[in-house]
Amino acid sequence: MKIIDLRSDTVTRPTPGMQAAMASAPLGDDVFGDDPTVNLLQASLAERLGFEAGLFCPTGTQSNLLALMAHCQRGDEYIVGQEAHCYKWEAGGAAVLGSVQPQPLDHASDGSLPLERIAAAIKPDDFHHARTRLLALENTLGGKVLPQDYVDSAVALAHSRGLQCHLDGARFFNAVVASQHAGEGLAQTAHRLVAGFDSVSICLSKGLGAPVGSVLLGGKDFIHQARRWRKMLGGGMRQAGVLAAAGLYALEHHVARLADDHANARLLAALLADVPGLQVDAGPTNMVFLQIAAERAEALVAHLRAHQVLATGLYKLRLVTHLDVSEADVRRVAEVIRAF
Ligand SMILES: *Cc1c(COP(=O)(O)O)cnc(C)c1O
Repeated sequence: MKIIDLRSDTVTRPTPGMQAAMASAPLGDDVFGDDPTVNLLQASLAERLGFEAGLFCPTGTQSNLLALMAHCQRGDEYIVGQEAHCYKWEAGGAAVLGSVQPQPLDHASDGSLPLERIAAAIKPDDFHHARTRLLALENTLGGKVLPQDYVDSAVALAHSRGLQCHLDGARFFNAVVASQHAGEGLAQTAHRLVAGFDSVSICLSKGLGAPVGSVLLGGKDFIHQARRWRKMLGGGMRQAGVLAAAGLYALEHHVARLADDHANARLLAALLADVPGLQVDAGPTNMVFLQIAAERAEALVAHLRAHQVLATGLYKLRLVTHLDVSEADVRRVAEVIRAF
């Protein structure tokens, strides 16, 4: 029986079409700036989202770290959510490697950082304090899309106080696809969601289905600085076009289809909505969270595993739909959970 792996959308394997694109990509040494496929990926994604330049990175963790280090100097700080990846899930890299202090804030229930909390966290220019330099937001966050009027207000507030704004858009295109207005093209929606940010980091290796890679976008000088940090951190890759080709393929073929993953997540949530003892929480994208009594959680994970379904998390189980999960798979998962 096929294993249905819902642990993350990072588990996707390159499709035959993607492998063909990787195999035929023109290559060069990217540390010399010579890889035409990397250059095309960087330039085309930058153009698509309205930035001056892009930088291909091995991971989203490195891409976020480069952004924090390029925006902030030693002794600066960034305002960030308690649950944000670039605060909680990146091993403290900004502090350890950047000497940049995080100022984490509690999220509201919709994932936003309330404007009054942001405003109150910005330190006055006084030598007792770290210099507040940056606001870092994340979209999507836990599968939820931040309200766009909130994002616009937060960016405006940050800029009015002299801060830069970084968007951790690891799943940016999930947010885009879920935010598309009727009659609006995906390109327009993407522009709307990224408007005002000074930088954005986008993962190619999540729902987009590439095996490796993230792209950091920003202004020319910012990317120039980030490239220096990338080299220092060991992220200067050589014939990286073989990987960038997968990213280009994903951007061409796997963006609009994210709607299928979102529909599958909604279907899964609907099929589980009436299960007693199970609290189902699903945003508009590709994640479903299940909450179950703590003493039953481990048994549920084991039950799923015994039925060839993989999921992570105790207390709150996370099920993520992606390219390698079909509607039939989702129906099977719902049956397995209902049987439990
Ligand atoms: C996965 C993820 C990252 C980092 O990606 P890696 O490539 O795994 O380092 C950053 N931010 C968010 C929100 C993510 O989900």
